[in-house]
Amino acid sequence: MGDIVIGSGPAGVSVATALLARGRRVQLIDGGKELEAERVQRRAALAARDPADWSRAERDTWTEPQFHAPEGQVRRCGSDFAMEPARETLASPPPWFALRASRAVGGLSNLWGAAVLPYRKADMAGWPIGIDDLAPHYRAVADFMPIAGQVDDLQEKFPALDMQGAGAMAPGVQGAALLERLAGARDRLARLGVCVGAARVAVGPGCKRCGLCLHGCPWGLIWSAGQQVAALAGRDGFSYQQGRLAQGFRETGGGVEVTLAGGDVLRADRLFIAAGVLETARLLMRSGVAEELVLRDSQHGFLPLIQRWRARPRVDRMPLTTLPQLFAEIDAPDVSPHLVHAQLYTWNEFFARDLIANYGFGLPPLGAALRALARRLVVAQVFLHSDHSAQIALRLAPDGRLAADLRANPDTGATLKRAQARIGRALAAGGLSALGLASRPGAPGSGFHVGASLAMARTPDARQSDVLGRPHGLARVHVVDASVLPEIPAATITYSVMANAHRIGSLAP
Ligand SMILES: Cc1cc2nc3c(=O)[nH]c(=O)nc-3n(C[C@H](O)[C@H](O)[C@H](O)COP(=O)(O)OP(=O)(O)OC[C@H]3O[C@@H](n4cnc5c(N)ncnc54)[C@H](O)[C@@H]3O)c2cc1C
Ligand code: SF4
Repeated sequence: MGDIVIGSGPAGVSVATALLARGRRVQLIDGGKELEAERVQRRAALAARDPADWSRAERDTWTEPQFHAPEGQVRRCGSDFAMEPARETLASPPPWFALRASRAVGGLSNLWGAAVLPYRKADMAGWPIGIDDLAPHYRAVADFMPIAGQVDDLQEKFPALDMQGAGAMAPGVQGAALLERLAGARDRLARLGVCVGAARVAVGPGCKRCGLCLHGCPWGLIWSAGQQVAALAGRDGFSYQQGRLAQGFRETGGGVEVTLAGGDVLRADRLFIAAGVLETARLLMRSGVAEELVLRDSQHGFLPLIQRWRARPRVDRMPLTTLPQLFAEIDAPDVSPHLVHAQLYTWNEFFARDLIANYGFGLPPLGAALRALARRLVVAQVFLHSDHSAQIALRLAPDGRLAADLRANPDTGATLKRAQARIGRALAAGGLSALGLASRPGAPGSGFHVGASLAMARTPDARQSDVLGRPHGLARVHVVDASVLPEIPAATITYSVMANAHRIGSLAP
């Protein structure tokens, strides 16, 4: 019968790749949504020409829809195909609920910021698996997901990601200047417990530095898991059933049955669930595995900073990229016993729009001043460990959707303040002044670094899984997405989720 994998996002393609490498037969199913044909054509038309030849109007037509996405919705290429509105998943979404599910081919990786870091050994202290268990799988994932970056001070902190020989994605004007300035302040940063380096991003070679990263890359250079689905097509033993939603599963004597929307039943020897933390929770609860599952968040906040030096040439003109430019890591026990991770974003079109919306009061002269200010703005997105963050308890609502309950963490505000203050002091050495009063916390789940609802444990209890992601009491069902991480360290989540899914796919009986 072979194996079934539910979900074609980063976790699903990673487990499928590992299973196929062992010669197993894999049926991959997903929600199947794709970028609409008309948008695909527009993207191709942009990609057919050099960005220097694009007219202002062409560029604006591509970027404009992103500025009008409903609150909480992340849009790329002018389409909402990759993110489900909250109501699709939750019976009555509370106003604080920022997490969203995907039913797309490739899942949320169609929208992601592509920032990648592995975990450190220390991040996994007390886990039932260690960094040596994940390290070979980080390497295996890097064989099919390109990672751009460079060897710098971060290499020593994150040895599991070897940047030797990686293709570099050259930063924009601001990012390059900041990297150089901060490299000159290395000793001062070290005294503050801060280490800075170039962002590592899942971007393939050939970046045109057109700056459209937050709108949808016309060349598809920002990796999405859909690319790996295409790469697996045609491999021996692989079959892909696009657009087949799973509704529940049950173990039978010698296998697993998966019930699909519409009533069809698929049978397999083993089932690997990678539907994303919300849909996975729903499937588990609908299948009677648990009555309540509690997600742990890595909560984040935004700290704006102003660049004190005068930038030449203009930062808002090509060549530029708008993915994160730098990573800054705080390893300082007086801030947190865990690592704090920050991603630095330099100029993008959202900066001026946000400033004008919040401080422009509809006055055109203020608009010009705020646009100039936006060209000096850098934003640090600071992530905390789940120990400092809120939790989201999920239950099944009577209509089969989810009901969510927030469990705020009294520690979040103070820890975020300490972390932002430390980042502000460190970046001052690079010529940035923090606007502490303008900092703001992200809503729980809005960073999408969420999971640990069925944490792997050596001796799992009713709400845990074993080290192969098997929920307590099940033998042939493996959960392989972020649900099974034991906790959520601050460093980016997806690369580790992929490595863990690949590990489970390599070891599952
Ligand atoms: C705006 C944004 C920016 C982000 N930036 C980053 C970043 O920079 N770095 C980082 O590490 N992470 C980032 N993330 C998080 C990252 O996208 C997720 O961690 C990652 O996509 C999770 O992968 P997954 O495979 O577990 O689930 P998903 O990507 O959610 O994929 C779920 C898959 O399951 C399928 N599916 C769902 N329900 C069913 C069902 N019932 N039956 C069958 N199939 C189903 C879907 O079609 C999809 O294929 C970001 C997320 C967002 C939204
Ligand atoms: S700058 Fe961004 S959108 Fe433009 S080519 Fe590079 S990755 Fe793609």
